[in-house]
Amino acid sequence: MSRVFHRNIHQFYPVAVAGDGPYIIAADGRRYLDASGGAAVSCLGHSATEVVEAIQKQVASLAYAHTSFFTTEPMEQLADFLVERAPAGLEYVYFVSGGSEAVEAALKLARQYFTETGQPQRRHLIARRQSYHGNTLGALATGGNAWRRAQFEPLLTQVSHLTPCYAYREQGAQESDDAFTTRLARELEDEILRLGADEVMAFVAEPVVGATLGAVPPVAGYFRKIREVCDRYGVLLILDEVMCGMGRTGTLFAIEEDGVSPDITTIAKGLGAGYQPIGATLVSGKIYDAIAQGSGFFQHGHTYIGHATACAAALAVQQTIESRQLLSRVKVLGTALRARLQERFGEHSHIGDLRGRGLFQGLELVLDPDTKAPFDPSLKLNALIKRAAMEQGLMCYPMGGTIDGRQGDHILLAPPFILEEAHLDELVDKLDRAI
Ligand code: PMP
Repeated sequence: MSRVFHRNIHQFYPVAVAGDGPYIIAADGRRYLDASGGAAVSCLGHSATEVVEAIQKQVASLAYAHTSFFTTEPMEQLADFLVERAPAGLEYVYFVSGGSEAVEAALKLARQYFTETGQPQRRHLIARRQSYHGNTLGALATGGNAWRRAQFEPLLTQVSHLTPCYAYREQGAQESDDAFTTRLARELEDEILRLGADEVMAFVAEPVVGATLGAVPPVAGYFRKIREVCDRYGVLLILDEVMCGMGRTGTLFAIEEDGVSPDITTIAKGLGAGYQPIGATLVSGKIYDAIAQGSGFFQHGHTYIGHATACAAALAVQQTIESRQLLSRVKVLGTALRARLQERFGEHSHIGDLRGRGLFQGLELVLDPDTKAPFDPSLKLNALIKRAAMEQGLMCYPMGGTIDGRQGDHILLAPPFILEEAHLDELVDKLDRAI
């Protein structure tokens, strides 16, 4: 009997004992191909020598120094590394220990920015339906996932949820990309005007939607139009790249492809690639300056922020990705994976849509591809597929059931960037059998 309190109380999992490149090995010797990177985390695979050595070196010299007293060399170097490569305007990095913490810091930075600049009434947040931004109370309220929120209501109340940029289900059959993205931008503008332009703090979105929809990239032009609306009303644009960032889509920041700069960006998962828990909130000079020249103190903090070992691990991960030129590999492998998925599942009687960017690919499961009718959520298809995949020795990330009153099941694939082409065949074969 296990004394571990898992979220899924009645389910027992294999005990993982080792990692080997793209595989996780369980105590019984079984090998699992990590086609989901855990939860889109393990982009370097398991047991990368460069990272192991960097962690050992850092632990041996200094594992931890509290940020009320010190910064550390790896913390400084990692901040420089990120800012040098971040979208224009993001100039400072606030380190945290994971994705939800990064989102909480983003929300509090936005609030404090408006307090410091004499607009404390700007508190209302606008996000999107069927979104996930984390499990802490602020991040949970931001996400548009009614099922996850239900047990904890009432949450923070000043949040509106708008239509996601989800072409498969939200774009009209005859609607052009331009008309669709214009409609979504107008919906944002209407909501800002309905709430009162000087009451709105920020718009929050994932550039490529991960956990809730399964690797849904934005329609071209969407984020430019959203940025314009935010600028028109002085609303901050917060992009949550916790899952899609750090090279997963083939560029270090997923938004690079859309040519837009946010005011705040959150990253986590791929930053430390699972070697250490770490996240970060990147902020514009405008926000930093308002706080620096105002109270001079960000009213926030956790004990383990900027942990020296975590920063050293993340720096080694990012330097390894760069020195091994793995971002171009992500693009090549992403194209190869999509081609294989298309070949195997393009005509599948229960797969309605294939989508994604780079090594962030999704499949949407439907009862009938012609009508796009979803499966009955009581089937819990995602749990069945997860178990069937594990039986095949494959980790994938199925999600589904009813999210924000809308049904749908999908499978997210987010494998490590170090795969060989043969792994792609293994992945697609195992997935096919599981489905
Ligand atoms: N934002 C997004 C977009 C995420 O996908 C997640 C995790 N799935 C989070 C925030 C929360 O991150 P964490 O689980 O590290 O708290």
